[in-house]
Amino acid sequence: MRIGILGGTFDPPHLGHIEFARAAMDKLNLDEVLFLPANRNPLKRIKGSPAKHRLEMMRGMIANEPKMAVSDVEISRGGASFMVETLIELQMVRSADYWLLLGADALKNFQAWRNPHKILKLARLGVALRPPMTETDVMARVTPEVKARLDLVPMKPIDISATELRHRFESGTGTVAPFVTPAVLQYIKQNGLYRS
Ligand code: ATP
Repeated sequence: MRIGILGGTFDPPHLGHIEFARAAMDKLNLDEVLFLPANRNPLKRIKGSPAKHRLEMMRGMIANEPKMAVSDVEISRGGASFMVETLIELQMVRSADYWLLLGADALKNFQAWRNPHKILKLARLGVALRPPMTETDVMARVTPEVKARLDLVPMKPIDISATELRHRFESGTGTVAPFVTPAVLQYIKQNGLYRS
């Protein structure tokens, strides 16, 4: 079994996330991609939407995707979400070949994560290039240890972030519809998220 795991805050989940999952599925021949909404990203300072909303939005986004699932292990564990703990837990529940899927921006911080050596033992990395990062930028930054465990995931660049989407919702300017699914859009409206 080959499983990709895509962690993040997903506040809100968007097209960049789902396209990354699809691209990884193709390139790495994955059986499944598991989305892992973090309870709290220890490296992000901003206070985001409650976990319950982020989890429900993610469920809504992938409801019709047969090879994608959402896990609430990090939210159930509570506190700061450390990927190394999550990987240990996942490997115990379901022993498999795991790929930790990361955008090139997230890879920049990888050495600051808790126990990156152990993470690399538990999973390979599947890295998507995300503008403005290029393959040369990525390869120039990583250590030999990371390079040996890294697979690049080519994808059509989707130049959107959750931060940009939150600004668009808050200000009521800029387009949001192409970047969030109808289910996510409906959830945001019904629950009054991202109102300034
Ligand atoms: P924020 O703007 O709040 O930091 P984000 O849009 O970067 O959020 P995260 O939830 O932090 O989303 O991202 C989860 C993972 O998805 C990260 O590894 C990130 O690099 C990746 N990712 C996010 N957006 C894209 C995108 N447009 N293309 C490729 N990968 C992406």
